[in-house]
Amino acid sequence: MSDVSLSKDSPGEAAPAEDLVVLAGVNKHFGALHVLQDINLTIKRGEVVVVIGPSGSGKSTLCRTINRLETIDEGVITIDGSPLPAEGRELARLRADVGMVFQSFNLFAHRTVLQNVTLGPVKVRRVARAEAEERARELLDRVGVGNQADKYPAQLSGGQQQRVAIARALAMQPKVMLFDEPTSALDPEMINEVLEVMQQLAREGMTMVVVTHEMGFARSAANRVVFMADGRILEEAEPHQFFDNPRSDRAKDFLSKIL
Ligand code: ADP
Ligand code: MG
Repeated sequence: MSDVSLSKDSPGEAAPAEDLVVLAGVNKHFGALHVLQDINLTIKRGEVVVVIGPSGSGKSTLCRTINRLETIDEGVITIDGSPLPAEGRELARLRADVGMVFQSFNLFAHRTVLQNVTLGPVKVRRVARAEAEERARELLDRVGVGNQADKYPAQLSGGQQQRVAIARALAMQPKVMLFDEPTSALDPEMINEVLEVMQQLAREGMTMVVVTHEMGFARSAANRVVFMADGRILEEAEPHQFFDNPRSDRAKDFLSKIL
């Protein structure tokens, strides 16, 4: 892997604030379902936060509110000091700061791997095509699929597709990356190649929110584990503390089922 810099901070700028993503008093309903209940969560620059919890606890909804794929009913979400507005140009700009990787890859099927990675920078960030392609090739090398650039997604394995999805998100030079169960749809032998890319990103200082059931990853890469159940954050702790000494019965019960 080459050492493409992911940092957007240029030397002349004032020191950036430590808190990169802040959710304050966030509530959301789906009809009668109170899917996010009084969520308060701060993610610091460079921090890796792993979110775990039973199915249906609101983990995906939480991720989707952070880049406004879902609206919220109450509360404030701030990205690098700017509150997320409901709509408009400012929302588009802030959303581009948040990279997202889904369980189902979501690559554009009728575009080549290279086009998948250059489309966002060219259309949204207004990067010149040649520059976008150069950077895309570097990122594809970096995630280990540099030799697949001219193929279509369907010609790649699931693990390769997910690594392209990561490269595509990184190409937008996001300030934070959200991963929603990025390895859950993969065959077992492909899980590690994706986790390794994520580990590498974490080591390089990328701010990451990762929903995953991969407890090995959580233990080795996370600064903090957030345990959700029924739309609430029930526990927040360092990985060793959470895994070795969960406080709530819900967390104990959950861990006994997955470990
Ligand atoms: P998790 O990712 O932890 O499994 P989700 O955030 O996907 O949980 O879902 C939380 C709850 O919200 C679930 O009960 C789910 O059925 C419900 N839900 C998710 N999306 C929608 C939606 N668009 N409309 C209605 N209910 C939804
Ligand atoms: Mg989910």
